[in-house]
Amino acid sequence: MHIHDEHLEVYNRLRAIHLPLGLRIWMNRHSSNPEAGVDMKRCRASVQDRGGGSFAWINTSQCTRPGKVERHGLLWCGQHDPDAIRKRLDEAAERRKAAWESHARQQREEARIATLKDAALMAIRSIAKGHNCPFELARAILKDNGENPDA
Ligand SMILES: [Zn+2]
Repeated sequence: MHIHDEHLEVYNRLRAIHLPLGLRIWMNRHSSNPEAGVDMKRCRASVQDRGGGSFAWINTSQCTRPGKVERHGLLWCGQHDPDAIRKRLDEAAERRKAAWESHARQQREEARIATLKDAALMAIRSIAKGHNCPFELARAILKDNGENPDA
């Protein structure tokens, strides 16, 4: 067994944790030791290099910021802290969920009002033709549409 096999296994496990966060670990892929030549005091995020070109995405380097927090044995800067990223993703998901729920609530309310308008028009027509108890008609329509007639 190669001395670094265990090391690689650890890194594969770490990658599985970080990839769903959109976070790539900076490591040496050309050596059996993933930490060979890596600045262990700096943030371990692999970041895309600035600059244009069709293949700019290929060029990555280690984040230049110093490592501030340790997660799973790796150092990260404030921006690439996996816990902070997870928190930001969770908060964004919460905001999307709240926006969706608000939208759904609004649509339900609009549908309810539309139904109530139709019922009100029918009631007015009925009263115009001499409905003998407009009071009970109004109460029934309100009840059918989730309104409290006594409110
Ligand atoms: Zn960083």
